[in-house]
Amino acid sequence: MISISFLRVVNKLATLPGPFEFEFCHLRFWGKLCLKLAHIVIEMESNSCKGQETSRAAIQNEASINLSKEDLAQRKKNDQGLHECEVLGTFGSDYEAGPESDFAWNNCTKNPGHPRFIPTQEFSLNDLPIWCRKLSVLNYVRRLSDLTVRLRVGYTSWGRPNGYCFSNCRGTKIVHYGSGAIRSVRAETGPCPCPECEHSPSPNQTWYKVFVTTALHVVYNTEEAKATKIDLFYDSKGCIEDGRMKTIHGMNVVDVDRVDEGDNSFIMCATHDTLLVQKIEDHWKQLHLGFSGQLSAKPIKCWRNLCVMVSHPHGQPKKVTIGEMKGCEMLKFDGQKEFTYSTDSCRGSSGAFMLLLEFYQLVRGVSWQTGMMWSAVHSSGGLGDLPNISGWTPAIPEDWPTPFSVSICRALLWLFGLTWLSERFF
Ligand SMILES: [Zn+2]
Ligand SMILES: [Zn+2]
Repeated sequence: MISISFLRVVNKLATLPGPFEFEFCHLRFWGKLCLKLAHIVIEMESNSCKGQETSRAAIQNEASINLSKEDLAQRKKNDQGLHECEVLGTFGSDYEAGPESDFAWNNCTKNPGHPRFIPTQEFSLNDLPIWCRKLSVLNYVRRLSDLTVRLRVGYTSWGRPNGYCFSNCRGTKIVHYGSGAIRSVRAETGPCPCPECEHSPSPNQTWYKVFVTTALHVVYNTEEAKATKIDLFYDSKGCIEDGRMKTIHGMNVVDVDRVDEGDNSFIMCATHDTLLVQKIEDHWKQLHLGFSGQLSAKPIKCWRNLCVMVSHPHGQPKKVTIGEMKGCEMLKFDGQKEFTYSTDSCRGSSGAFMLLLEFYQLVRGVSWQTGMMWSAVHSSGGLGDLPNISGWTPAIPEDWPTPFSVSICRALLWLFGLTWLSERFF
């Protein structure tokens, strides 16, 4: 634009009429020179735009023509470092990639046979470590499982920066799979914006915002959120056929971390399914019972803790894995934490809600009822000796204030080492 305005002024000077010719002859000379320069600048600008378009077109072209579907999927799969999204070579998130997902599950090299991945419906007391084999813990894991979702992200945005996860596949529609969890639900009035109602002459006038937490590298921005389908209650293969699995649609990202800050993405979905929302709210209320946590408190590493992950490895029905927290980094100024843990994960687990539970017992032999909990999203899966790592916990705590009673218990245990759940008793 600047070049065009400049060109107009210069053009005017260069074509001044006769009476001014003498006075401005030198000006005309410089005017013509500037005119030439301006043309060169415009040409360069136009070439650079063409260059950008050409490079985009080249990638898209290569994506759709030169590379086979398998090669493109492989490229995307390899373009995520230690992050754990699953790429099954499918296009469009409407397609249920059953056989592709089964193949990835059966041929997994990270956890061959998946011996420690327990189908959520089969998870029982015997799967918990002996020291926390309690019905309350079992119910807790089940509730977390009910709130876990699978994400099918049908587009990779051009907004992903160079060098970032999936940046070599920007602009393509190869689906990647991740996990997440429902964090809250809010009722709204007015026309429902879900895809079903969007083009309907009589859209539902009561609808709900469902907020889902996942990793930033799974859903990067609103453009990707709009291309995302979120599957709830995908507990077994049968859930698709009998309709127990429910799918809602991503609308936009509400809050995301910056690439260099953390790995959290908070997305909003829309649904008008009242029964579904009631079910979600019931599960969420039960998850709040029993355990509390807060951002400023750090888990005590030598105390026994349980680190639970419920995720959709390889896009399969959800599985529970159990392990322990191995480390916790905490930022002093805002209390954000990053956890390392031994809990198993596979591709497809990215964005899963990690739950860390710490247990207390003030008097030996007396059943405990309380504890602390922390949560974070699963960010990267370690290979070999490298541990699994969570994203940094979000800076603003939404809930889970620690009751005074829990703080007092925790402080006493710490002072006197009274808990039989500490390492030295094992
Ligand atoms: Zn696997
Ligand atoms: Zn609707």
